[in-house]
Order: sequence, then structure tokens, then C-alpha cells
Amino acid sequence: MANPLIPSTTPGLQQSKNGGVSIDPVTGQTSLKSVFAGGDIVRGAATVILAMGDGRTASKGMHQFMMG
Ligand SMILES: Cc1cc2nc3c(=O)[nH]c(=O)nc-3n(C[C@H](O)[C@H](O)[C@H](O)COP(=O)(O)OP(=O)(O)OC[C@H]3O[C@@H](n4cnc5c(N)ncnc54)[C@H](O)[C@@H]3O)c2cc1C
Repeated sequence: MANPLIPSTTPGLQQSKNGGVSIDPVTGQTSLKSVFAGGDIVRGAATVILAMGDGRTASKGMHQFMMG
């Protein structure tokens, strides 16, 4: 289950209006540049297929970030 404490207890991690983690929707990148997120912690309660899609988006975002 997505942990609702993480957004509110992680310094520098920007929260979204729904209390989850705010991301760049194109890359999955959070306000902490080396942290990427997706799934329920971003969307609120959603579905497995959306979480999997977010994982794909974030993995591409991470690759791009690491490769400069
Ligand atoms: C009862 C129920 C039934 C559902 N049925 C369906 C369904 O039929 N079809 C469907 O598509 N979706 C269903 N969903 C929704 C689906 O389960 C979620 O949308 C999906 O699992 C989200 O994936 P996620 O990876 O974002 O989060 P999660 O699958 O919740 O994974 C988050 C993980 O983070 C871990 N975690 C939390 N805090 C920490 C920490 N501090 N350190 C390390 N790890 C941590 C948790 O233990 C968990 O393993 C259902 C949800 C529920 C609750």
C-alpha cells in the first residue's frame, strides 16, 4: 500500500494537492531530482495497469537523468 507518511515526512519532497507525491508527468521526476515516483503515491488509489505505466515512464526518466 502506498505510504501516506512519505510525502509529508521527506524533506524537500513536494506534495501534490491530494497529499501524494508531486511529479513531472513526462519523466516521473519529483522535486528531489534523483527521486522518481508513480502509481498510487502519485495518483491516489488507482489501478495496477496505471502503476505499471508510471513505472515505465519513470524508468525512461531515470535513464535520461543518469545519461545527462
Ligand atoms: C483491496 C484492493 C483491491 C484492489 N484491486 C485491484 C484490481 O482488481 N485491479 C487493479 O488494477 N487494481 C486494484 N487495486 C489497486 C492496486 O492494488 C494499486 O493501484 C497498485 O497496487 C498500485 O501500485 P503501486 O506500486 O503504486 O503501490 P503498491 O502496490 O501499494 O506498492 C507500494 C509498496 O511500497 C511499500 N512501502 C511502503 N512504505 C515503504 C517504505 N517506507 N519503505 C519501503 N517500502 C515501502 C509497500 O509495502 C508496498 O509494497 C486494488 C487495491 C486494493 C487496496
